[in-house]
Amino acid sequence: MSRRRDRLSYREPLTSRESGKSLSTVDETDFSGPVWSRDEPQIAGATDVGVVRRVNEDAFERFDNGERGEILLVVADGLGGHRGGEVASRMAVDLIGKLALEGDEKPAIRLHRSIVAANDAIFKAARRDRTLDGMGTTVVCLLLAEDGDSFVAHVGDSRLYRLRSGGIETMTEDHSLVATLVREGALSQEEAREDPRRNQILRALGVRGDTEVDIGPLELLPGDVYLLCSDGLHGMIEDDEIFRIARRPDRPAAVVAELIDTANRAGGTDNITCVLAHVPEPTPLDTLRSSATHLFDSTRAFLTGGGPRREEAASDGTPSDASDSRPVKSAPRESDPKR
Ligand code: CA
Repeated sequence: MSRRRDRLSYREPLTSRESGKSLSTVDETDFSGPVWSRDEPQIAGATDVGVVRRVNEDAFERFDNGERGEILLVVADGLGGHRGGEVASRMAVDLIGKLALEGDEKPAIRLHRSIVAANDAIFKAARRDRTLDGMGTTVVCLLLAEDGDSFVAHVGDSRLYRLRSGGIETMTEDHSLVATLVREGALSQEEAREDPRRNQILRALGVRGDTEVDIGPLELLPGDVYLLCSDGLHGMIEDDEIFRIARRPDRPAAVVAELIDTANRAGGTDNITCVLAHVPEPTPLDTLRSSATHLFDSTRAFLTGGGPRREEAASDGTPSDASDSRPVKSAPRESDPKR
């Protein structure tokens, strides 16, 4: 059973906003909840219409499965005339959130199934209603699992970034024409940024009867920062600027607001959506607890003449100096189940 909280949806702005104004059109929520009792990631998300457009076709949401200790973050960027774009992105977010946390299959299978179902539903809705004809949406999903098996899945050019060890890395590969040309060496990164075809995406949900989904496993480390965003962010500001802002140890909601503000100051030509997740570092208390457990196990081993039991050594007995580099989550490599 999936449990959803803090339902978020963007507000339709009354007017387009000007650069530098306060983030009055931002629909912002500071996510926090009881799902992960001690190590719960700190998560915040916001969307903004930008400076130029009148309608926000982006959507985002957080979903929780408390029993399983899973958090699903979804960002979608709709396309299509009339109201199609906003309908498609909202359908994608809602359906994926509903389906991906249900069932007993492995997380990658559930993610894949939910994204394919969203594609199907959007495609059929567009065929039923002429005003929705041609609608589609990108999607990027981050499934954070309390006890391993975290995954990223995406279709289109919405991205997942990871900040780790003083650097930023794109965890998704844009399904766009210019990204393909860059990969093939036909365009440089700089040329791609100015290329008039930079909005052309090669894959989207809802535009065809079938879709191909990229899914990959993620190993979470303490201190990791994950950022899901639409191209209204990464198309407006460079990765090193995103890094400079997202690396700050501020509250995620403050970081998200600053990212959006920076994209708007850079022109804000598109809707901007950011969802940020901080995987917490172990606190001094955690480290102390870990050391105490280790000492206790060693003492008991000495008194009973044996070593610490194997499973205890793995789960609790990690020495304090190693706990900082210990993965909090890990997942076996798993490829797109469709392939
Ligand atoms: Ca966009």
